[in-house]
Amino acid sequence: MADCCSNPKEIKKESVVEECPSCRRKAKSVKLITLKSMLKPSSLETLKAKENHFFCASEDCDVVYFDMLKKAYLISDLKVAVHQKDNSPTTPICYCFDWTKEKISEYVENGNANKPVEHIRQNIKENRCGCEVNNPQGSCCLGNVTAFIKGIS
Ligand SMILES: [Zn+2]
Repeated sequence: MADCCSNPKEIKKESVVEECPSCRRKAKSVKLITLKSMLKPSSLETLKAKENHFFCASEDCDVVYFDMLKKAYLISDLKVAVHQKDNSPTTPICYCFDWTKEKISEYVENGNANKPVEHIRQNIKENRCGCEVNNPQGSCCLGNVTAFIKGIS
């Protein structure tokens, strides 16, 4: 777990990219443990654990994960809402520490735009983040949080 947020640059270098079978956009590789955490039991039962898996971050695409055999797992196969594909204010961007769109917006409106990132960074520093098992994308949320704050402020 220690590598999930501590060294994002290194993880980026290692990540493999594959084309989503549905939207044809590039998707990043994701660890098996992320699918095991995120999939509903009925979908987990069909997981091909020997395959490499990828995460599609496209907003308008129903596919969340797929493997090299083009087997796809859809939004409805996951136990949680996927931030990239869900506009609900109660969907988290930071899944580990529950920073929802609504909560972040509130802080920004009250002039505390730095607070969410500061809070997340502090917890990362203490090695409390578990993006691999909490966040559907399986990697650190900080980039998403920063982009969201930029978008609304
Ligand atoms: Zn897609």
